[in-house]
Amino acid sequence: MPITGVAYFVVSEGELAVFVHSGVASTILSTLHDVSLGAYLRGGGPIIFSRGVYDFTALKALEQSGHSANFRDNRLLGISNSRTDEFVAFVSFPAARVLTAIDESRAMLLPIGTVLGLALSIVFFFLFRRLTSMSASLLRALNTDRVYMEYQPIVELRTGRCIGAEALVRWKRRGRLIPPDRFIAAAEQAGIMPIVTRRIVDLVAWDSAEFLRVHPDFHVSINFSALDLRSERTVDMLAGLLSVSGLPARSFWVEMTETGFVEKGVSNTIEQIRAMGIRVAVDDFGTGYANLGVLNDIKVDVLKIDKRFVDRIDAADQGAGVITAIISLANSLGLELVAEGVETQLQANFLLSSGVQFAQGWLFGRPGPLSALAEPR
Ligand code: C2E
Ligand code: MG
Ligand code: MG
Repeated sequence: MPITGVAYFVVSEGELAVFVHSGVASTILSTLHDVSLGAYLRGGGPIIFSRGVYDFTALKALEQSGHSANFRDNRLLGISNSRTDEFVAFVSFPAARVLTAIDESRAMLLPIGTVLGLALSIVFFFLFRRLTSMSASLLRALNTDRVYMEYQPIVELRTGRCIGAEALVRWKRRGRLIPPDRFIAAAEQAGIMPIVTRRIVDLVAWDSAEFLRVHPDFHVSINFSALDLRSERTVDMLAGLLSVSGLPARSFWVEMTETGFVEKGVSNTIEQIRAMGIRVAVDDFGTGYANLGVLNDIKVDVLKIDKRFVDRIDAADQGAGVITAIISLANSLGLELVAEGVETQLQANFLLSSGVQFAQGWLFGRPGPLSALAEPR
């Protein structure tokens, strides 16, 4: 009999399938107060969502052991990998629950596996509901040619020479480009940013290794989100990028927004990245909360002046005043400056005469394939 308009959650095992009304699944969860559950990224990655109290160290140990369940402190702990192997769902509940169930239904022994299986499947049901359709389809597109990188030239204002390029991710969904700030925000919210960033770094390595070998004075600047910079994986990822490509650290810059810069735990990551020899730039400078004090505490190499200040140069507005203040700040801290979003010659002239060394913007080139920058100017 066809069932339409009703959301069912299906658990299947071999030739058997159980249909659970989504409302029932929610009811089960809301009545089980002593059941903790959730999901995290495989390999001990960050928790994507969770409910109740659980021991994350025990979970990671269970994942590493290769087993799917164990008994600890009178609780049963179970884990299960998603079909794509990216997520691990977990459930933890008092063993007494199972024992009571066995007691109550003496004739029918309730297999622990069934209880665990159902609970874990419910977790995945909620996980996929939680992953909005945008981030779920981004995950599907990630390893296809619908997700790719474009590179925008960064030039030296005095000479017009192209000294590097910023890597910008692109996603073509149903033939239309989705703005990266939109899908990056969705990916961050859904907890899949580590997977997206991993792919971005792989794409950059793939696109640029040969180019950077031929042009050793050139660099590629990669954007990282605030979440990336709180994760220990980022340092490993960058170390991997250098060892796999065989390129020197000066071939890459790391960009992070000013908002991410002031978050806890970021300074340690930045120190490690700089210790490797990779330069760190604060993106969209002037729009967040990084003040002189923060810049004194956390050492960086470059400030990128946000486009909104550059836009005001033509109008001879206060934006120019802000730029002058940023320039003297950068000079006093020994930092280099890149102006973003330069569209007119007048802006470029003003920036050069004010002491800004580098710039990017449509005046110099739009984002495109790296090969379009074949001969650095
Ligand atoms: P962003 O890092 O500040 O990148 C600069 C943005 O300004 C880019 O937009 C670029 O195309 C645009 N732009 C450059 N010059 C001009 C100009 O002269 N005029 C105008 N109107 N726009 C200009 P895009 O590519 O849409 O990226 C938007 C934001 O999305 C980026 O801002 C960055 O925050 C984020 N993003 C892009 N790619 C990545 C990525 O690979 N990883 C991460 N974590 N974030 C990314
Ligand atoms: Mg950037
Ligand atoms: Mg920017």
